[in-house]
Amino acid sequence: MKSTVCCNVALHQNLIDGAWIGNRFLPNINPSDLSETVGEFASATEDETQAAITAARAAFPAWSRSGILERSRLLRDTSQEILRRKDEIGALLSREEGKTMAEGIGETVRAAQIFEFFSGEALRLGGEVLPSVRPGVEVQVTREPLGVIGIITPWNFPIAIPAWKIAPALCYGNTVVVKPAEVAPACTWMLAEILHRNGLPRGVLNLVMGKGSVVGQAMLEHREVDGITFTGSVSTGRRVAEACARHMRRSQIEMGGKNPLIVLDDADLGVAVDVALNGSFFSTGQRCTASSRLIVTDAIHDRFVAALAEQMTSLRVGHAMEATTQIGPVVDEGQLKQDLDYISLGQTEGARLVAGGALVTRQTEGHFLTPALFTDCTPTMRIMREEIFGPVAGVIRVNDYDEALAVANGTEFGLSAGICTTSLKHASHFRRNAEAGMVMVNLPTAGVDFHVPFGGRKGSSFGPREQGRYAVEFFTTVKTSYSSSF
Ligand code: ADP
Repeated sequence: MKSTVCCNVALHQNLIDGAWIGNRFLPNINPSDLSETVGEFASATEDETQAAITAARAAFPAWSRSGILERSRLLRDTSQEILRRKDEIGALLSREEGKTMAEGIGETVRAAQIFEFFSGEALRLGGEVLPSVRPGVEVQVTREPLGVIGIITPWNFPIAIPAWKIAPALCYGNTVVVKPAEVAPACTWMLAEILHRNGLPRGVLNLVMGKGSVVGQAMLEHREVDGITFTGSVSTGRRVAEACARHMRRSQIEMGGKNPLIVLDDADLGVAVDVALNGSFFSTGQRCTASSRLIVTDAIHDRFVAALAEQMTSLRVGHAMEATTQIGPVVDEGQLKQDLDYISLGQTEGARLVAGGALVTRQTEGHFLTPALFTDCTPTMRIMREEIFGPVAGVIRVNDYDEALAVANGTEFGLSAGICTTSLKHASHFRRNAEAGMVMVNLPTAGVDFHVPFGGRKGSSFGPREQGRYAVEFFTTVKTSYSSSF
């Protein structure tokens, strides 16, 4: 069995060494309708995780030397199947994570594009040939796969993040053990199933679903893992980094953000409101790139807040699968509690809640929260310093661009930063001086292209960038070889 039906609920097993394995399961609940179980997904043991790592190690020599056409074809076929089934997979994503159907399908298409991109990259891996300082000696600089890659992913992009880690890992000849978040494992299961059916050799990609404290922890401690690529919370990210350092192993870690969006007096008000609305609240604000700090100069402040609050009240919050819904539910009870706790903390800290922040009921029982906007925030408030990871944003009023820039950079994070302005001078200065890995001018801080690097600075990220051609840095290791013609 890989997926079977028991008591009207589909059971999904782990993929270890080419076989579907596992007899203990965790339910995956639809956050738009808590009475619906999307499926039961295997919960791997420590032994099963170790078996997956052993299988990946055994499969590495053959896969690392496999032809580039074989790897390219597998990635291309996977991309094409994802694209063909985008509505079905997008619906699955919406059911398990709560993104709207449009967001779910959009993310699925992005995953297909990522596989397509790396299908091409598999054919383009080059090296360098250089003369040596010693006559008659030639130097080659080449890239080789790193080895066994441990992939640990969060729930908020349940297909795009696994795709942007799995596709480059396989492209460059690595083998994989992948562990999705227990809250939303279905899309990764779907990816593994598609890869498996499209000719993935046994052991090359192993799927181990289950708890972070069991499966993730076992991956951190196993000697045979050569590198770990992780996206998730700051606290787990630190734990991953420390474990990797202990084992002298490579790590690529994407964590949180507290992303600023500056709105200057000279901004186009309509653009600024659209950018803030999208960046702060779409995908229910559950994006590490969400704009959670809106830093607004004095002369536009009141007009901006009034227009944004008005637009927010017209956002339709509801069941992710309903065509009219613009903001889906919060992913689960734990995240909802965190959002509500921060909303009441903001009020205690002296910020003014001017829109949203209320639980709403719909026909189905789900975690429906209206997007919340605070004003009168100061940079030192906890709601302006800590990542909330929900549809909650706060406005900090500033006097001018210089103060806005200082506030924007005054954070321990540095993932994405945006500015809305019609001034070329300020836009250019901000692009150069924002302390963030990604900078957006008149665009939402969230939402990035699949073919360019993704990642941040300071407490947001650690290790080489993800995505695009820069992915090669993490997923390969450089070899310098010398040969004498004598
Ligand atoms: P969030 O759930 O807020 O996205 P987490 O950091 O808790 O962030 O989870 C991200 C991923 O890390 C998930 O797949 C989770 O299961 C995993 N994880 C949690 N704890 C550990 C751990 N101790 N070791 C390794 N992975 C873990």
